[in-house]
Amino acid sequence: ADLEHKVRLRTAELKEMNDELEMRVRELTRLEQWRKELFMNISHDLKTPITLIQGYIEAIHEGVIPEEQTGFYLRRIRDGIAAITHFVRSLNELSLLETRQLAARMEPLDATELFRAIASKWAPYMELAGRPFRIERLSGGAPLLGDAHLLGRVLDNLIENALKYTEERLPVAFRYELAEGAAKFSVIDAGPGIPEDAIPYVFNSFYRVDKSRNSGIPGSGLGLSIAKEIAAMHGGELSVDVRRGEGGSGCTFALSLPLRQEAGAASERRTEAP
Ligand code: ADP
Repeated sequence: ADLEHKVRLRTAELKEMNDELEMRVRELTRLEQWRKELFMNISHDLKTPITLIQGYIEAIHEGVIPEEQTGFYLRRIRDGIAAITHFVRSLNELSLLETRQLAARMEPLDATELFRAIASKWAPYMELAGRPFRIERLSGGAPLLGDAHLLGRVLDNLIENALKYTEERLPVAFRYELAEGAAKFSVIDAGPGIPEDAIPYVFNSFYRVDKSRNSGIPGSGLGLSIAKEIAAMHGGELSVDVRRGEGGSGCTFALSLPLRQEAGAASERRTEAP
């Protein structure tokens, strides 16, 4: 009976080890798949602009392009190189963020200060571009802990996307409010919106909704995944909501950040206790 008991125990142990191994194999297979897709995406996104640049340079070099048109192709080359540079930078940044090599410099901030800084940076640009821009401050100040530079980058990115994917005349709103104990910054556009089935993927690296992949709007599909990483570093959240009804489409991207006072007040109270 003793032996039987030991055998049963050992069998259970082995089964557990086997399950563990199977789990690791699944995880490794998943990672390997992810790595393959990553390389495919990177080479795909670099190949096209490089092919074009190479073609233009050769054509200019061989004198195929009439003198008066070289300016046009040189600008194309310059834009192509700028797009590649931007892509490589984003890729590098995402990897630094994911491996936690790029740390946030956390400092006390005020939510309305952050809001004001971004709103006043964009207002003159919108004015020039003839884009209706609504600035909606719905709540008062609130203390945050964060890296103003990185958080600004997230909000800039949301505003840039709203401009990029929304027709020129359509309005964009930038809103600040306190909601459910968090400071919430929203960018609301009246553009084409995002199809329901694409919503779960928009924050994934390299993901672009089909329309934008094919429409010639430049982009890498990395902006929102970088933004999501930065939000997570701050204990915050990045979300998207697609508006329906009101005869309009459009989407709302929101960055929610936890308020500083709770943790701060709690620890202060603790230090004051006898
Ligand atoms: P990129 O803009 O470089 O493609 P992002 O990660 O910023 O990458 O966005 C991912 C995709 O989400 C975009 O390609 C686009 O299809 C979609 N998207 C983002 N913002 C908007 C928006 N405001 N309106 C419509 N689609 C959007």
